[in-house]
Amino acid sequence: MTVPPPIAMLAELTHRCPLSCPYCSNPLELTRKEVELSTADWTRVFREAAALGVLQVHLSGGEPVSRRDIVDLVRAAAAAGLYTNLVTSGVGLTQARIAALDAAGLDHVQLSLQGTDAEMADRIGGYAGGFARKMAVAALLRDAGLPMTLNFVMHRMNMQQLPRAIEMAVELGARRIEVATVQFHGWAMPNRGALMPSRDQAREASRTVAEARDRLSGVLVIDYVPADYHATYPKACMGGWGSTGLNVTPDGTVLPCHAAQEIRHLTFDNVRDRGLAEIWYDGAAFNAYRGTEWMQEPCRSCARKAVDFGGCRCQAMALLGDPAATDPVCVKSPEHARLAEMAESFADARADLVYRHA
Ligand code: SF4
Ligand code: SF4
Repeated sequence: MTVPPPIAMLAELTHRCPLSCPYCSNPLELTRKEVELSTADWTRVFREAAALGVLQVHLSGGEPVSRRDIVDLVRAAAAAGLYTNLVTSGVGLTQARIAALDAAGLDHVQLSLQGTDAEMADRIGGYAGGFARKMAVAALLRDAGLPMTLNFVMHRMNMQQLPRAIEMAVELGARRIEVATVQFHGWAMPNRGALMPSRDQAREASRTVAEARDRLSGVLVIDYVPADYHATYPKACMGGWGSTGLNVTPDGTVLPCHAAQEIRHLTFDNVRDRGLAEIWYDGAAFNAYRGTEWMQEPCRSCARKAVDFGGCRCQAMALLGDPAATDPVCVKSPEHARLAEMAESFADARADLVYRHA
């Protein structure tokens, strides 16, 4: 099997973050600042990524601007020839810092939105004053002329705010909005009883997105991740395992997707020990679920196997304890009916939020 080079790299610069969103995709065991990669390490990783064929780097976290060297890191990634995208809550950005990032070669900013008003956003982010700060930062980004995407993570508590989130994206001058229904990995797992949307909410969100895409064609691009526990077929997670992208965690561990460490029996390489190209092509974790050879039935003989690649390996692991199983989101999975029941039961639950802690 010929393995193409990756297109994108998610650089999780740090797990530190001033917010504490209960759906944060960071692992329950967060990486400490003391073991984060240094500026020099990241500079080498950006060069290796560009040489490997990566075109764009998403500078993420945690909150990437919690790194004091964020401007140097942007400069290093841009100098390596990568398209640089900063994925941020906005808290921690100032006019001076935005100007410095712009001058260092930052190409694009993705600004997260926890809600469309201070009451919701600050409750979900667990950070008083965060919404006001974020709106001020959105204006500064627009004034600086930096292209911006708004990221709106939806769940049962804020899904009714979707129409307003789309309006806000237009008002704030964003070119794109990513509307993602919460994915149940990391901190979202213990929050399923608080965050799981109902089937009716999920349907309404899909209808709202379809209507807005029509109405705002040419004005705003809307990327949409529907509620997968209520879906019929799974998403093509990462466009297929080890096929389009890789993640580097704060301590240099290289993952095929951000939740891959949930698959405990896999061994993950680290950029401190091996070159990125060697890890991509020869790493055991990357080769574990590449292509379709590893599949079991019903995926193995399914016409959609090159469309969705059997869904999400981490979800199969989390829900069934078998990462090679068909993602139970799929209607053909023998476990699909049980997942649908589980989704209904979480949607009816009234659990308290469990906040991500530092
Ligand atoms: S999801 Fe929330 S807590 Fe997690 S990194 Fe993003 S802003 Fe921080
Ligand atoms: S059986 Fe497997 S390949 Fe077929 S649709 Fe379901 S998840 Fe996709």
